[in-house]
Amino acid sequence: MSDRYAVIGNPIAHSRSPAIHAAFARQTGEDLIYERLLAPVDGFVAAVDAFRSAGGRGLNVTLPFKLDAFRRAGRLSERARAAGAVNTLRFDADAIFGDNTDGIGLVTDIAQRLRCPLAGRTVLLLGAGGAARGVILPLLAAGVARLTVLNRTPQRAHELVRAFVGDATDPRLDAGGFDRFEEPAHRAPAVDVIVNGTSSGLAGEAPPVPAGWLARAGLVYDMVYGARPTPLMTAAAAAGCGAVSDGLGMLVEQAAESFALWRGVRPDTAPVYALLRASLAEPA
Ligand code: NAP
Repeated sequence: MSDRYAVIGNPIAHSRSPAIHAAFARQTGEDLIYERLLAPVDGFVAAVDAFRSAGGRGLNVTLPFKLDAFRRAGRLSERARAAGAVNTLRFDADAIFGDNTDGIGLVTDIAQRLRCPLAGRTVLLLGAGGAARGVILPLLAAGVARLTVLNRTPQRAHELVRAFVGDATDPRLDAGGFDRFEEPAHRAPAVDVIVNGTSSGLAGEAPPVPAGWLARAGLVYDMVYGARPTPLMTAAAAAGCGAVSDGLGMLVEQAAESFALWRGVRPDTAPVYALLRASLAEPA
């Protein structure tokens, strides 16, 4: 019988994870079934336990359950602990193992598909929600020289950085609000990579990054993805930045990392990314 996996969330009908994992399974010859699992907002634990009891081997976890999954896991990877959230559960014989592959997905997509090595680079991270928190440790592990976290609500950016350094200071990490964008254009800092970890793109908005900042960036990366460029990508391209990308590659890379965690084999992501990109304009 095929091994069973699923993505659990609410809502879940839009999820592209089944298509991604089906493509990985075809490519690697792994015998598995990957489904969508809709759980009631207050019924995450019961749904996970029922899936596990029925022989399920692992789950991807999406909104709004990443914190519930963090609490449900009996063992955690270091990056899941740092993220404070879990997007991958593996049902081991003795415990439920929780991991977070979002951050490494971002780093791999930037370094490999976009050929932008992060070691020694200066990175500006916009946002201080779950997605931003999840990418901080992987970005530091990739060797970024400086990581500035700016958020619409500055307090949340400060809290996020404090969660990593405690009362100490880390010369690589800096936090603040969008008032930093009010600096005169000639004083705009040289930032190699701008990563948008806010959900502004979902509302059809761009964070208020001035054109001068965008123009000097080698890469502007928006974690949101869709059939069309996000408002920040459009603004960055108009400003003349080096390259822009949405977060579709991050989605595929985090899935590949989950697949490797479950199956012990890492799929080739390039053809699956191409497949997803081509189908993005179609309904999921
Ligand atoms: P979240 O926890 O709800 O955090 C939302 C963040 O966006 C906060 O920092 C919030 O700022 C900011 N924000 C919301 N609307 C804004 C606006 N109009 N202008 C400026 N800032 C705004 O959400 P999340 O889980 O971190 O997810 C963030 C985004 O990343 C989502 O859109 C999600 O789809 C995407 N994501 C993509 C992938 C992928 O694989 N590509 C993986 C994970 C997440 P305040 O603190 O001021 O409210």
